Amino acid sequence: MSTTTQYNVIVVGGGLVGSLCALFMAKRGYQVSLYEYREDPRATEFARGRSINLALSNRARRALQEVGIEERILKCGIAMKGRYIHNINGKNKSILYDPRTRQCIYSVSRNYLNQELLQEVERHLNVRTYFNHKLINVDVDQGRLVFLQTKNNTTIETYGDLLIGADGAFSTVRRALQQTPLFNFSQTYIDHGYIEMNINSQSGRAMVPNHLHIWPRGEFMMIALPNLDYSWTVTLFMPFERFKELNSPDKVLDFFKKFFPDSVELLGKRQLVEDFANTKPSPLVSIKCGSYHVGENILIIGDAAHAMVPFYGQGMNAGFEDCLLLDSILEDCNDNFPVALKLFTESRREDAHAICDLAMYNYMEMRDLVTRPSYLIRKKFDDF
Ligand code: FAD
Repeated sequence: MSTTTQYNVIVVGGGLVGSLCALFMAKRGYQVSLYEYREDPRATEFARGRSINLALSNRARRALQEVGIEERILKCGIAMKGRYIHNINGKNKSILYDPRTRQCIYSVSRNYLNQELLQEVERHLNVRTYFNHKLINVDVDQGRLVFLQTKNNTTIETYGDLLIGADGAFSTVRRALQQTPLFNFSQTYIDHGYIEMNINSQSGRAMVPNHLHIWPRGEFMMIALPNLDYSWTVTLFMPFERFKELNSPDKVLDFFKKFFPDSVELLGKRQLVEDFANTKPSPLVSIKCGSYHVGENILIIGDAAHAMVPFYGQGMNAGFEDCLLLDSILEDCNDNFPVALKLFTESRREDAHAICDLAMYNYMEMRDLVTRPSYLIRKKFDDF
């Protein structure tokens, strides 16, 4: 390997975690190449299909602080100091997360965050970003990556001293690692999917501000997170079977009137019907790996390493924490990549598995247990 500043680091995936990781690596003085399949999000309309806003918590804040952009990001976030529970009987209530010290989480726009991270990455002269580059092949033994340049359908090959896969839940890098001996991996789809809707900025002013709103209904639930323009992004999580039953405008409206009566006017009847007609519910997957590296220079982080169901609001947060951890390990072991990767797997695995489990558990908490007095919750677990 070459001297510190000449290490070539390749990051695959310019989503939230890949962009932040590239920033950390650039600050270490490495030569960084960031490859992303999609167009540059700063040059295109935001693509629908992923959550439009996300809950950002302490885990992510610590990482953003380390690279010096926490304040800037929080300025464009909306503090959520607690849950606002919409009971079916109309008796709504606010439950503060931390009444004593008033800690809160923040609702931030995914697109804004991604753009700011890329902007910050590109301030560094030792970084090159390549959009419209899809990783199609990984030779684990040789440390060789092949990308398809989607604009002109040609391929390029590249090598690096360190290869970091931050290419999301369906990671191509991880798929290559899965084919190596002794690499353990598990993937679980839940029977529930989600669709996103919107309360526009006019109606949104009627919502109680600075809360994460939840409509818990036992088997399913709806949540809403605020946007800066007073609109709200609303997500309905429900078994696929139930989504299938809502196959006509009347059925959709009857369902909402029955289970989410106070949301019908906010969402708008016509919009509701249109959203259901035009949107297919998306699946939710949880992924665990036995290791996050193979050999001496290939590592996966973020959703590629530990995608989780979104009910704990920690997927991105945990991915940002990966970047912080990797950076501190590299610092402690003087940029010795083989040692650092091993240490990363060893120190991350237990926590990553735990947060995947907590995320799964929190669906039950949010859609059901949050409505019950604590003695009944204890009883439910005693019955288990
Ligand atoms: P991604 O965001 O998936 O980014 C991966 C990137 O890699 C993408 O840009 C993709 O285009 C690129 N890529 C993929 N394949 C290739 C390839 N072959 N070649 C090159 N590039 C490639 N987390 C929270 O912390 N808080 C929340 O409130 C929250 N809410 C959520 C709500 C929903 C409905 C969902 C689905 C998720 C939520 N999450 C939340 C989780 C969060 O979205 C993910 O954990 C986060 O996006 C992971 O970031 P990532 O960069 O690892 O992966």
